[in-house]
Amino acid sequence: MRSKLPPLPRRLPPVQGETTLSYVDRLAKANHLDSRNLIGYLNPELTGTRGLQRRFDISLDVLAAVTGIPTAHLAQALPEIRPQHPDLHTTGQAAAGRPNRTQPACRRCMAAKNIQTTVAIWAHPDHNICPRHHLWIGHGVIDPTDQVEVAQLPEIPRAQVRHRNLIRRHGRGRVEPFYEHARAVIDWSTNLPCDTGRWNRMDYFVAREQAKTASSPLRKRRLSLARSHDYAAYYPEVIDLLSILVSPYWLRIAVSDGAAEREHFYNQVMKSGLTNGTPALNRPLQKWIARQRDSQPDQAPAAGDLSTIANWPGCRRPLESARSRPPCRDGSDDGG
Ligand SMILES: [Zn+2]
Repeated sequence: MRSKLPPLPRRLPPVQGETTLSYVDRLAKANHLDSRNLIGYLNPELTGTRGLQRRFDISLDVLAAVTGIPTAHLAQALPEIRPQHPDLHTTGQAAAGRPNRTQPACRRCMAAKNIQTTVAIWAHPDHNICPRHHLWIGHGVIDPTDQVEVAQLPEIPRAQVRHRNLIRRHGRGRVEPFYEHARAVIDWSTNLPCDTGRWNRMDYFVAREQAKTASSPLRKRRLSLARSHDYAAYYPEVIDLLSILVSPYWLRIAVSDGAAEREHFYNQVMKSGLTNGTPALNRPLQKWIARQRDSQPDQAPAAGDLSTIANWPGCRRPLESARSRPPCRDGSDDGG
């Protein structure tokens, strides 16, 4: 019986929300084992598998036997095997799979637990900032070193609070897909240098990094900012727009056939200073409106369309070029 496997010498508790791969990898390292061998030990069907799979099946009972940790504790912490223990109360915790995503846990929270290696966790799409350490841990973070200190820009942590409040008020099922649309709209309208909150905050991030490397000009020349800085920089404007998109009142106005009402919606967008340029020319915003108009009038808007952000750049933004790009979209001398 697999459940009678002997426990490993070193006991290692999982982190809340940790991916199974992350946990098994840390478990292997703690016990001086190869991760692939341990995975094959836990599930013989995976023995000899080339490379490490992001997700794989492990019996909760087998993992409990090998780790010496109770099944309820493991299932509470590990979303991928949580369904094997259906009696748990896990309301509000991120489940494995979309729209949730995997991301590195806050490096400072992990350091407080004396964990020195990267821990990957499942997180809701709105889990962008560690409330304890004010680190940006959400979009764009691939490695813990990409996590951005945002305490000096309080509007960013405040946006996280507003984001959570919108979810409480309108429901996660409505806010999450609209969040992706709001990001696309703001990104489209401000992705070229201009005098917006996004670029002012990017200037701050750049200056801060340059100050850190002032004594090392050679390193400075080659330095770049992780993409996570950019996501953090326009997060407040995304939440500004999101608060309009999720509003049933503004949704009704946005999809109206009347030109005057549509203009009323655009004015609200403009009045809040949410986008650079004209909202009527903002392609992601137009796409969002068209999608909502295609929905049944009495139904919740269509959810989960990510096509508008399919072409987002995934590269790192060069540190030296934060303000060296062509002017804003819709500008008369727009370079592209
Ligand atoms: Zn933290």
